[in-house]
Amino acid sequence: MIKELTCIVCPKGCALRVELENQQVLSVTGNACPRGKQYAIDECTHPTRTLTTTARTADGGVVSVKTDRAIPKELMFDCMAQINRTVVSLPVRVGDVILENILGTGANVIATMNL
Ligand code: SF4
Repeated sequence: MIKELTCIVCPKGCALRVELENQQVLSVTGNACPRGKQYAIDECTHPTRTLTTTARTADGGVVSVKTDRAIPKELMFDCMAQINRTVVSLPVRVGDVILENILGTGANVIATMNL
């Protein structure tokens, strides 16, 4: 089976062709650098994403937040649900940890703005 992906590691956006058999990556072509090959392997075997969203604040507003590392793609909605149940106390500074080790992923949800 051939899977076609666009590498999102850098703005060049190389078009990748991944040859798969039984969930195993046999080959990757189209990548202009080794990072693209690793991206293709990760994307086909264990896709992850950095989650960027907002969380409610105690004054009724919102603060932008993100995970400080990529989390498994299949946990994105569960992580969003946990963030949506959270109310952030003010003041908050860039880098403050809002949720530690969300869903046991090892990733913290951190603030990305001062408020
Ligand atoms: S393969 Fe390398 S050069 Fe191409 S988009 Fe990915 S990171 Fe950028």
